[in-house]
Amino acid sequence: MEEPKFIIEVSEAKSLTQSTNLTLTQLLPTIVKSSQPLARVPISKFHVAAVAVGISGRIFIGVNVEFPNLPFHHTIHAEQFLLTNLSHNKETQIQYLAVSAAPCGHCRQFLQEIRGAGDIPLLITSDLEKTAKTEFTSLSEFLSHPFGPHDLLPKHVPLLLEPRHNDLCFIEIEGPITNSIKPHLKDAALKAANESHAPYSDSPSGVALLDSRGNVYKGSYMESAAYNPSMGPVQAALVAFIVGARDGAAEYGELVEAVLVEKEDAVVKQEDTARLLLRSIAPQCSFNVFLCSSNNKI
Ligand SMILES: [Zn+2]
Repeated sequence: MEEPKFIIEVSEAKSLTQSTNLTLTQLLPTIVKSSQPLARVPISKFHVAAVAVGISGRIFIGVNVEFPNLPFHHTIHAEQFLLTNLSHNKETQIQYLAVSAAPCGHCRQFLQEIRGAGDIPLLITSDLEKTAKTEFTSLSEFLSHPFGPHDLLPKHVPLLLEPRHNDLCFIEIEGPITNSIKPHLKDAALKAANESHAPYSDSPSGVALLDSRGNVYKGSYMESAAYNPSMGPVQAALVAFIVGARDGAAEYGELVEAVLVEKEDAVVKQEDTARLLLRSIAPQCSFNVFLCSSNNKI
């Protein structure tokens, strides 16, 4: 494998299988192993990589990300990173999943947000050292009696990775702060909020981050039917930043501006916890909040 990265395009995946004479599924353990160094784990030093082959044939990678000086619930698990990466890149289904260690309960639960999650073939690559066989097990064997979206939502509601538009627009408030924010950053945060998976609280939100090079990274809040495994919008935007900026080498100190967009009447508010996380990891980054409302309520 060359330098690890977070997305392997179809053509690259094909040349990898040709050059190694392996199938895509046989390649997964190698990709998992080579991706583990991308994890940001200053607390645990436990590097987790999760790799998915999407329905398009692209391969996506996720790693765990920890934040010193903050409570553990800010942590991004590798499977959450992976689903964020898939979602941001409009990949709608997973063909195969491989993880360096057995998914924790939190991640088994979070994966339930995908339609048909139980049928996804899962490979635990640390087990290969014991058995030397590439054997996939369905996710339902890891969570045999799941609680999930089907317990709370009507069948037609889009689930994670499925296309959605939340029909949100800004509530314009006059003021100097509004004028100082770059419009494209605000618009990116609104777009992220419109793509947010928040069917349990109806409180979608999105964050856009600007780095010192002028690049914008956006992330959508993603809820879990079990609430706590939900993925915050700042974490999601940080995934986009880590994936997109300098091949995973970017430092949070490069972030200069952040915008959060959330609903005025949200029952789940992100502002305070988003501010806390950003202030801790990127104190130089300015943070602004804009409120939105559902179009159909105006
Ligand atoms: Zn986990």
